[in-house]
Amino acid sequence: MKQKKADNADTSAVATILLATVKGDVHDIGKNIVGVVLACNGYRIVDLGVMVPTDKILDEAQKVGADIIGLSGLITPSLDEMVHVAHEMKRRGMKQPLLIGGATTSRMHTAVKIAPQYDHGVIHVLDASRSVTVAGSLLNNDTKSGFLNTLRNEYDKLAESFHAKKVVKNYLPLAAAQQNKVPINWEGYTPPTPAFTGTKTITDITVETLRPYIDWKPFFIAWEMHGNFPEILTDKVVGTEATKLYNDANALLDKVAAEQWLTPKGVVGFWPAINEGDDVLLQHNNQTTKLNFLRQQAQKAAGQPNFSLADYIAPEPGDHIGAFAVTIAGLEKWIAKFEAEHDDYNKIMLQALADRLAEAFAEYLHEKVRKEYWGYQQQESLSNEQLIKEEYVGIRPAPGYPACPDHTEKYKLFALLNAGEATGITLTESMAMYPASSVCGWYFSHPQSQYFGIGKIQRDQLEDYAKRKGEPIEYAEKWLRPVLE
Ligand code: SAH
Repeated sequence: MKQKKADNADTSAVATILLATVKGDVHDIGKNIVGVVLACNGYRIVDLGVMVPTDKILDEAQKVGADIIGLSGLITPSLDEMVHVAHEMKRRGMKQPLLIGGATTSRMHTAVKIAPQYDHGVIHVLDASRSVTVAGSLLNNDTKSGFLNTLRNEYDKLAESFHAKKVVKNYLPLAAAQQNKVPINWEGYTPPTPAFTGTKTITDITVETLRPYIDWKPFFIAWEMHGNFPEILTDKVVGTEATKLYNDANALLDKVAAEQWLTPKGVVGFWPAINEGDDVLLQHNNQTTKLNFLRQQAQKAAGQPNFSLADYIAPEPGDHIGAFAVTIAGLEKWIAKFEAEHDDYNKIMLQALADRLAEAFAEYLHEKVRKEYWGYQQQESLSNEQLIKEEYVGIRPAPGYPACPDHTEKYKLFALLNAGEATGITLTESMAMYPASSVCGWYFSHPQSQYFGIGKIQRDQLEDYAKRKGEPIEYAEKWLRPVLE
């Protein structure tokens, strides 16, 4: 195994680390930061970018003589894709250690699902600074086997505890969970009527409009600085660095806004909707679209319902459901420019800001919906801090996230909104939105609606869901894997 030699001009002596975001996934800020940090520590980085199929990753790894392979992914289907990569590495008889990173990955998933596929080291590495230590241990022949043995023991124990825990939680049969739905007094309630039904395309929004809606905390997390905003700016340890980042971000935002680098594009829609069990029947152009939701199945404490988003739609005519998709368009050109200039810092900065602006757009649009388009909170006056704390009435849950974990419902959302045409967003085979700086979701207006997680579901619900969706059970199983036991 080659050793790292930071100051050696002979590149054949420098260890090579190959990085890629897996097939179907478009997120790469974390990967880009890892790449920069490893490069600063003297490694040769080969970055294959986003949406990279397994064969391409492994062929390239062999071609460039990679000493380590690092995979990144943000959305849940990428977890399966990583399992597949590990499996293929074994099948090909590869020997390089495999690093796993990205927001949905976890030590537990790595230990239980990925590590057992491959015998030459699978290491979950969540942050860039740790990737340096890990790469160092893996590339040093004196430390490598000790490091991997310790890790293997740790992962074995984790996997054991995972399998042991499985029996503890009690689950209700689906019918019993459905009996325990969210108690809403529909008799005493008049649903609000939106100002329009059908869709409205939003093209008149500027970066300046969105800036006040930015939630800065995730911006610092993207840069691997954890803490609250604005306190982080004066933090004893990271305050100086955080302040520099914040000032640089705002200077870049000034430029982006003044020179109109980026174009916010969005679409919003409302349709008459009626609850039917765990489904919502939505009317549009004399057609019915059935939205399928899941329901919590874990046994709850007394007085706690088994939540389903479907519960928030009235079972009698008169209610509506809404949807939105927003994106920050125009990024590619500027990313290419910064790449050509080898300016990783501004490239990552711009990516992080585009993500923030997309979330800010979702926040801005949701406020507009409450005050005007749906108009059920016309007098609302919340500070950005209160918006971030979700103190508003109603919710905007995103398909693929905990209350509605099936990413494939995005097909319906996109078709209803004609979102592809209206915004330019496309869906990858893993149902990630491209460009990455995009957000979509449903709107529920009922004052009792709140965010929650579905948790794990049981076989009876999987079967019921597949039937409701008119899909083969294997298809539902593939997409619901994160909520199956
Ligand atoms: N201020 C944050 C907002 C993003 S996280 C930011 O700028 O990053 C909050 C969003 O994630 C919600 O508006 C909703 O769209 C989604 N979300 C949060 N919890 C959810 C859940 N349990 N189920 C589905 N979507 C959820």
